[in-house]
Amino acid sequence: MTPQEKTLLIDEILAAHYGAPFIPFSYRDPLSELVSAMLSHRTRNAVTRVAYLNLKERFATWEEVIEAPTDEVEEAIRGVTFPEVKAPRIQQALREVAARNMGELSLEGLHEVSVEEARSWLEAIPGVGAKTSAAVLSFSHLRMPALVVDTHHHRVALRLGLVPAKSSLDKTARILQAFIPEDWDGQRVYDSHQGFMRHGQKVCHWRKPNCQVCIVREYCDHYAAQNATSEG
Ligand code: SF4
Repeated sequence: MTPQEKTLLIDEILAAHYGAPFIPFSYRDPLSELVSAMLSHRTRNAVTRVAYLNLKERFATWEEVIEAPTDEVEEAIRGVTFPEVKAPRIQQALREVAARNMGELSLEGLHEVSVEEARSWLEAIPGVGAKTSAAVLSFSHLRMPALVVDTHHHRVALRLGLVPAKSSLDKTARILQAFIPEDWDGQRVYDSHQGFMRHGQKVCHWRKPNCQVCIVREYCDHYAAQNATSEG
């Protein structure tokens, strides 16, 4: 079985097991999703949500966020990790979007290009990596087939042996994105992310994976290696 075949087989098992199709948690426009994704780095979802709502309450438009003194933006998002870094980064990212879009502060046009082009365009913005670019395209109302790979998804992919050992999160995201069949739509790709992420949250824990109840352990390199060690 090739890594791609193995990934798609496990994907199908996990997506079905955890209840695909999953209802999207967000219907935001892509620019708002960009801000939310930048806030979310190393921050819990509930805290990100509060910071995002604070920003929206304090500033009527994203143009106002650009114009605001940075310490006011920082104050609005102070619950997240590194607000002093994220506030100027968000302002800079918004400025960059407008500058590269003939003054228009919008990311709606991304649906006219391929996922690959849209991701490269976004990742040229300082502070935007693979996870953020995919989140903008997948979680927003654009619903493009961009695969979000978070830390749970990354860990599960490494242990199963879907990507080379020690692959970074960005490298893992690129490899797994390349495995996605061309005819998968945004919902199917979203379901793939959800299946792997939920498996990481519920079974394949960071500290101690619960391999005894894992429904994909027969395909898992980590599990095979552990068994080989204990039998040896
Ligand atoms: S067998 Fe264990 S290490 Fe492998 S995916 Fe399942 S829980 Fe994770």
